[in-house]
Amino acid sequence: MPRKKPNKMRIDFRKGHQAQPRRADLTGDYQEARDEIDPVSSQRVSGKGDLTRKRTVRGVSLDANDSDVLGQVELETSVNTLRGIVLRVHGLESIVQFENGQINRCAVRRVLKNLATEQRHVVVAGDQVSVEPNGNDQGWIVRIENRKSELSRTSRKRRHIIAANVDQLMIVTSAAEPGIKPNLIDRLLVTAEQNQLDAVLCINKCDLIDPAQLQPLVGNYSQMGYRVCLVSVTKRWGIDQLRRMIRGRASVVVGQSGVGKSSILNVIAPGLNQRVQTVSAENQKGKHTTTTSEWFVLPCGGAIVDTPGVRQFQLWNIVPEELTGLFRDIRPFASKCRYPNCSHQHENLCAVKDAVADGRLDARRYDSFTQILDRPVFMGMDEGDEIPVSQISSEDNMDEDPEDDSDDEDES
Ligand code: GDP
Ligand code: ZN
Repeated sequence: MPRKKPNKMRIDFRKGHQAQPRRADLTGDYQEARDEIDPVSSQRVSGKGDLTRKRTVRGVSLDANDSDVLGQVELETSVNTLRGIVLRVHGLESIVQFENGQINRCAVRRVLKNLATEQRHVVVAGDQVSVEPNGNDQGWIVRIENRKSELSRTSRKRRHIIAANVDQLMIVTSAAEPGIKPNLIDRLLVTAEQNQLDAVLCINKCDLIDPAQLQPLVGNYSQMGYRVCLVSVTKRWGIDQLRRMIRGRASVVVGQSGVGKSSILNVIAPGLNQRVQTVSAENQKGKHTTTTSEWFVLPCGGAIVDTPGVRQFQLWNIVPEELTGLFRDIRPFASKCRYPNCSHQHENLCAVKDAVADGRLDARRYDSFTQILDRPVFMGMDEGDEIPVSQISSEDNMDEDPEDDSDDEDES
């Protein structure tokens, strides 16, 4: 890929730049010294007083208001750099794995951090970076490549990027113990759509039911173009198919506890789950309590991305019009509605409701859709009604009352 010609740009120093407090992290002292006596000739300090001091940085301009995208950013440097991938971020320290397999602890140059005022972390797990090594297993991140995707969540009404360059969301659910929660699956599919990630649905514990009972649900999701894999870790069913689905791709594994996520990781990448547990135990010690993600490189190619904050996965700024676009099956009907601002709930002339009425649109999916409209903030993995697989069918599980007709909403 041809590299975009870097522009020069001027960025403000942070307030209090000259009086940085000492940090407790391991690279802190080194970074401190490095930032103050910066030998990289391309970073010039110009201007007379504190207020006008700027550094000149080469890089693609990053609009501070556009916190969604962290463009490719690069500091001019004459030193040889190594390319690597960020495995995790602990506060100011990023753990980077180089192409040769070596793992270093790296710090982000402060000047890069200044470029992303809205970002909680300038770099996140999955970022492709260039590092200027510093002998003793440390280094400086001097360049961050453009991200092909970002996974984000909402926390205190702010959007946080939790991983970069993720390809797909692997939604793990179980056919029984705990029973399947189609509404939770739908919410997670919306999250995938919103983050422009592919979704893979893995239904585990198929040994506990008659798999034929899952057919309506599987058919429904497959028709929408989602890949579904029926698995039993216990019986080793579907494991090869699952492996093919994750090979060479970066997958975020999500699902409520007890569905078999650890068991699945154990069979597809022995040893990986142990690493997941160790890292999450370390995180829980409170030393570096962050909800940062961890990137695990798979021996078969690709990666598993573990996100401790995944339970707080929330839909970001869901507005009704947007939600329609995130339901693949509802989208085509919605464009045929009479009113452009149709809520698809209370209007009499609604193509979506018509499609539900005559069976062209799955009633259960429509039910999920209205539930999300009613409560757009995703509360967590325990959300969603469990339903026994024997009850899964297109018609049978609309057991709730349809929207009350006496609602005062007017469709005109
Ligand atoms: P996690 O919380 O999602 O990581 O789930 P675990 O992997 O810890 O699994 C929860 C429980 O389900 C464990 O007791 C597993 O032995 C059991 N389990 C996992 N996969 C299967 C399966 O395919 N069939 C059955 N019957 N039990 C399973
Ligand atoms: Zn409508």
